[in-house]
Amino acid sequence: MSQFRWEVGKQLSILVVLLFLFWFIGIAFDFVVPMIILVFSSFIFWHGRQFFILYNWLLSGRKQPVPEGIGPWYPVSEELHRWRLDSRQNKKHLLSVINEFRMSTDALADAVVLLDPNASIIWCNKASYPLLGFSKKKDVGTRITHLLRHPEFIKYLDENDFSEALTIVSPISHEMWISLQITPYLQGQKLLVARDITRLYRLEQVRQDFVANVSHELRTPLTVINGYLEILEDKNEIDMQQFRPIIVQMLAQGKRMKHIVEELLFLARMEKGLQIKSQNSIDMPLLLSQLKQEAQALSATQNHQIELKIESHKGLYANEQEIHKIFCNLVFNAVRYTDPNKKIIIRWFTDPQGGHFSVIDEGIGIAAQDISRLTERFYRVDQGRARDEGGTGLGLAIVKHTLERYRAILEITSELNVGSTFSCHFPSDWVEST
Ligand code: ADP
Repeated sequence: MSQFRWEVGKQLSILVVLLFLFWFIGIAFDFVVPMIILVFSSFIFWHGRQFFILYNWLLSGRKQPVPEGIGPWYPVSEELHRWRLDSRQNKKHLLSVINEFRMSTDALADAVVLLDPNASIIWCNKASYPLLGFSKKKDVGTRITHLLRHPEFIKYLDENDFSEALTIVSPISHEMWISLQITPYLQGQKLLVARDITRLYRLEQVRQDFVANVSHELRTPLTVINGYLEILEDKNEIDMQQFRPIIVQMLAQGKRMKHIVEELLFLARMEKGLQIKSQNSIDMPLLLSQLKQEAQALSATQNHQIELKIESHKGLYANEQEIHKIFCNLVFNAVRYTDPNKKIIIRWFTDPQGGHFSVIDEGIGIAAQDISRLTERFYRVDQGRARDEGGTGLGLAIVKHTLERYRAILEITSELNVGSTFSCHFPSDWVEST
């Protein structure tokens, strides 16, 4: 500022000197007024030219270096030069902030989409592609409703009430569920965040199915018992002989309900985390012989050919009650779903990978599409047959969850009308070493 003042003062001094000089010349030639006009107009012209040079530079987009001013214009052009450097640095800083923002949002697992007031896409991050199918290259500028045509989403956008998230199926896959949350910002712009909630959605479905299934399973025996009790209520005197079959039926239904509840409670216990290694190992040959006897008792007159293949005497450092229960489930299933006189093999062997228990049957087999669902609670391939056989539909869910406590895996291979193999693979640290 002080330099500017000094330069202005210098210019005024020059003007005064010039005025005096030309005034004297004017007096000498009797030309005073034109001389003074000449001095003023030259002065104005010279400053006007400096002003226009700077003005043109500003209009040209400030890409060229700042034109160097003369006199009082010198500090002005210097100040402009400094401002240009600062704004360049600010621009660089802003660009790096934007880049950092883009990189961090690109690293997010959630999709982030910026929308303008017309709901057209301004920008979207990388995760928008696998979740919503949006790409920065081809979809910027497109209205989001042209890409996400879900009626519920269009309604959500139109209603302009974004207090709650919206759950819809992803346009990428019918198997994927996404939660969308919109947050308005600035004037009419919106920030859309989409999250993959397939796992949560499935869990919620499983919970709802589970409640529905339990109610359904318990309703049948309760209806039977209630029906009989209503008949009994109308009678003044009860002929025990006549009602014995009814009592037997009620007892059977009561037992069935108790069995379902016990299985559910056992399953809940098995879902509670990892098992601790037991001090004593299970005597596997003894356990397998017991299993064979129990299977023969269940088979009774069906005369299944039950064969034991004990290829290792190494035991498991596991809870005997739990292991007996899950092996029993597999062996009893083999008896239930295998026609009379057919062969069932119960096998135990160990190798460097661990211990392996298998039940191999020549039974009805399971279709490929059902295999992956067998361990779901209450899933039965043939509802009627399974119930007739006294099954609860919880057996394989119990097997799977109990095995998970030992970091063991259930493997199922099967072919319709040929037979099935159910194998439990235990990691080596649960198996006796000698
Ligand atoms: P359930 O108590 O009904 O037997 P599980 O969970 O033990 O319930 O078995 C689920 C379903 O898997 C059964 O209903 C049956 O359809 C099928 N299943 C299980 N084991 C076998 C097998 N060895 N052979 C054929 N189907 C089987």
